[in-house]
Amino acid sequence: MDSKKAMYESLGISEKVYDFCSEIEKSLKNRFEEIDSICEQNQLKIIKAMQEAKLSEAHLSGTTGYGYNDLGREAIEKIYATVFKTEDALVRPQITCGTHALHLALAANLRPGDELLSPAGKPYDTLEEVIGIRESRGSLKEYGISYRQVDLLEDGSFNYEEIKKAIHSKTKMVAIQRSKGYQTRPTFSVKKIGELIAFLRNEKPDLIIMVDNCYGEFVELTEPSEVGADMVVGSLIKNPGGGLAPIGGYICGKKEYIENCSYRLTSPGLGKEVGATLGVNGLFLQGLFLAPQVVASALKGAIFAANIYEKLGYRVIPNSTESRHDIIQAVEFGNPEAVIAFCKGIQAAAPVDSFVEPEPWDMPGYDSQVIMAAGAFVSGSSIELSADAPIKPPYAVYFQGGLTYPHAKFGIMMSLQKVMEVSDFSI
Ligand SMILES: *Cc1c(COP(=O)(O)O)cnc(C)c1O
Repeated sequence: MDSKKAMYESLGISEKVYDFCSEIEKSLKNRFEEIDSICEQNQLKIIKAMQEAKLSEAHLSGTTGYGYNDLGREAIEKIYATVFKTEDALVRPQITCGTHALHLALAANLRPGDELLSPAGKPYDTLEEVIGIRESRGSLKEYGISYRQVDLLEDGSFNYEEIKKAIHSKTKMVAIQRSKGYQTRPTFSVKKIGELIAFLRNEKPDLIIMVDNCYGEFVELTEPSEVGADMVVGSLIKNPGGGLAPIGGYICGKKEYIENCSYRLTSPGLGKEVGATLGVNGLFLQGLFLAPQVVASALKGAIFAANIYEKLGYRVIPNSTESRHDIIQAVEFGNPEAVIAFCKGIQAAAPVDSFVEPEPWDMPGYDSQVIMAAGAFVSGSSIELSADAPIKPPYAVYFQGGLTYPHAKFGIMMSLQKVMEVSDFSI
């Protein structure tokens, strides 16, 4: 037996699973090469931005207290603005997560009486409470901001006719979610988002268009800010943090809107000038530097998983051959047992907390029980190999991340090992 196979066996992967997965991996060579090429170009884009900002050792440390004149923070925001091709950026450890960043972008730019439009159907679960779709204290609704939604057509495309009807004098902002999140709709390509933005601009030129860019960064060669979005928003414990950022969120966009966000994040009058970075600058920068490579690893893992589970007869979204616009892979198992087994496999393959068994629980912000598997260096980081599933039909598991491809691969093999134990297929 070859040494690699023996190594996998020592970690609990049977010969059958190993052979089955190895065959599938062999067939993915060309797709992996495409991903490597995108990674290479995004890597160069980031190096160029760092060089243009004259990044130096002095930027890697941070400030305490008020955080006035934090040179590292200023360099980071300049680099993000260059990478995302925007006028300005707000990249802060004080932005606690993606939901916070999205709330910030919305709350800072909407005023009582304004309306927010979602032209791509229901937004991410946690945004239901931000907006007030589900009654929630402190929601935008409580502040007199109304909301309107246009669902996608059956085939996952935009319903332009209804979107046109939904725009009226009060419509101030539009939120477009790039990634599917916890849904089984397709993720939108940057090109598709650009088409939608062009349509919206034509209907009402002064709309503020925000894209929830979570999980989409560096998957393609361009970002939604390059096709007309006024703001792109995301979390640093997803793609752009490269696994190293221990906290944080970003908003890149038009200067005026970013300024509004800064006044909301800190205080009117203070804005971007305060906010100590407490030593995270080096991690934000090195994480961004690594991000294209980490995203490429995660994408390879997602494609590997899609090919394995599709071959076994499950519905996988995206399917085994589709082009990719985010790092999420959904697998529809149709029963809770397989979903739980899948998550247990991902957990068992983790470097941290591999001995823990994940169980479904009532997670704040979600409307059903959720199971989450993650053995991450940064707590809750979903650019690290992780799987989440709401325990409700169609019993789909959402799988993402992997700081390295070998880890993503091992995690998926382990998931298959565990799913087989509760299923009746054989390989
Ligand atoms: C993760 C995610 C969010 C929320 O980010 P958190 O960091 O979990 O608060 C919002 N939208 C999308 C599409 C996401 O993937």
